[in-house]
Amino acid sequence: MRIGLDFDDTLADFSALLVELVAARFGFDLRAMHAEGKPGRPLAGAERWDAMILEMLETDLTLAMPPKPDAVEIAQRLAERHELVVLTSRYDREMPFLHAWLDQHGIPTSDVLWTNRESKAPPARHHGLGVLFDDTARNFEDFVEHPTVPALFLGAAVSPRAPEYGAHVRAVSHWREFEVLVETLEAGDPTPGAVIRPATGSAGA
Ligand SMILES: [Mg+2]
Repeated sequence: MRIGLDFDDTLADFSALLVELVAARFGFDLRAMHAEGKPGRPLAGAERWDAMILEMLETDLTLAMPPKPDAVEIAQRLAERHELVVLTSRYDREMPFLHAWLDQHGIPTSDVLWTNRESKAPPARHHGLGVLFDDTARNFEDFVEHPTVPALFLGAAVSPRAPEYGAHVRAVSHWREFEVLVETLEAGDPTPGAVIRPATGSAGA
């Protein structure tokens, strides 16, 4: 199977670095803010906040992102039997640092694709992805009746709001759960393209 993997907050822990930088540069606890439903940007100041985000995406600071827990081990294990395709919405100018991160952590990929913030649905279809693992629910809005199974990495990003996602999305909360989902898909139940019930849904007949 060709397995699609998002990069920021799916392979690499963007949020962990963000929380660390916010504490060091602005002196507040972003997780605590988000737990209260408050965004960090207004408190830090929009200009300084946006400059920090650009620095995380467009400089070697990307390399300071730790991997998500168990991501490297499980990706390497999956790569023994599947093709891993990184599918990110990053811009061209942000890509050199992503490639460097993949090299640094030894993630074996057969392809690295980027959309310049455009939809991931066309490339996922074009490249025959059986599943796409991604932390952003919005990225799956146009995956209804799509051959790629949308696997939402729930809770991977620090956010002041819980994401809303459709019934076509399979929610998983850890790389270990994603590995189980891949095994399930590989076994043919449910098959890609079939109706996927949400993990929290009622057990059907
Ligand atoms: Mg992401």
